[in-house]
Amino acid sequence: MKEYFRYFCYDARIIFSRHHSTHYFFNHHCFAKDVKCDICGSEAVTYIRYNGMHLCSEHFMKFVEKRVKKEIRRQANFNPGDVIGVAVSGGKDSMVTLHLLHSILGERRDIDIQCITIDEGIDGYRPESIELVKKFCSDRGIKYNQASFSERFDITMDEAAPLSGDNSPCTYCGVFRRNAMNDLARKIGATYLATGLNLDDTAQSIMMNFTRGDIDRLARLGPHKKIQPGLIPRIQPLRMIPEKESLLYAIVSGIPYHNGICPYSDEALRNQFRHVIDELETRSPGTRHSIISSYDQMLPMLTANSKPADLHKCGCGEPTLGKECKACELRNILGLKKII
Ligand code: SF4
Ligand SMILES: [Zn+2]
Ligand SMILES: [Zn+2]
Repeated sequence: MKEYFRYFCYDARIIFSRHHSTHYFFNHHCFAKDVKCDICGSEAVTYIRYNGMHLCSEHFMKFVEKRVKKEIRRQANFNPGDVIGVAVSGGKDSMVTLHLLHSILGERRDIDIQCITIDEGIDGYRPESIELVKKFCSDRGIKYNQASFSERFDITMDEAAPLSGDNSPCTYCGVFRRNAMNDLARKIGATYLATGLNLDDTAQSIMMNFTRGDIDRLARLGPHKKIQPGLIPRIQPLRMIPEKESLLYAIVSGIPYHNGICPYSDEALRNQFRHVIDELETRSPGTRHSIISSYDQMLPMLTANSKPADLHKCGCGEPTLGKECKACELRNILGLKKII
């Protein structure tokens, strides 16, 4: 399989389904040979179109690591005693995030890096990735923590999916997962929660909220500088790393990842934005970076008028603006008992 990635060209067609599943369609460029690294002259594994460089595996890895370190410094100000919970599903982005945070900060004995995994209860999909994550953590001495929908919400996704009606099962899954993740992060004393969102995910989310006119949500996308009581601030170490680079990083550095397809995956809207942004990126390399840079410049204006949210505790323990948090609202719709 590695042979296919000898030269990982940006023209390779990659289609992603929601979270963790990746399918590859290669064209002839993927098999280009005798292309040399512009830094050391070794065999190149990729061409970075937006900065015009061919890079070998070693220099490609350094190129990724340098930007991740810069992004971590920009987003977080770690103090002795900090606990970083890393949300890990087993997909390439979350595995690369855990690997990089552990290798960049693992030497610091005053910072604790722990893995947080949520079992949604999806047969034939989640158990395999959970085993992969557990083994990765045990091989590297990283503490593994897990919560499940069945324990926290009394329902699995396999049970909720047929009841989701007009809503996509992903709506339930996303809300439940955020709730369970924040709860577990709080229980392990996490001061930061790191997620595997990459450059493509971020550019798509900005454009989706922008075109929907959802300015509140746009302002809340994170990474979070302001700390809201009860909510663990998120950091996104891969925020400036394109999806294909995250994948190539996993491959060249031998990081295992789960590549299954969730049976409930519904990416219709996000895929539309993916196609539009990919098309723009092909015509004008650097488009995704420009979207994020524009967003970052607009963020102070977007948040200037928003008052700090007046959050209180929902019955389930999560902070909420309304009477009940979103997860408890959805549980009511499904006719489930309250979380005590
Ligand atoms: S149900 Fe949707 S959100 Fe949940 S794991 Fe599957 S694809 Fe992801
Ligand atoms: Zn090189
Ligand atoms: Zn609740």
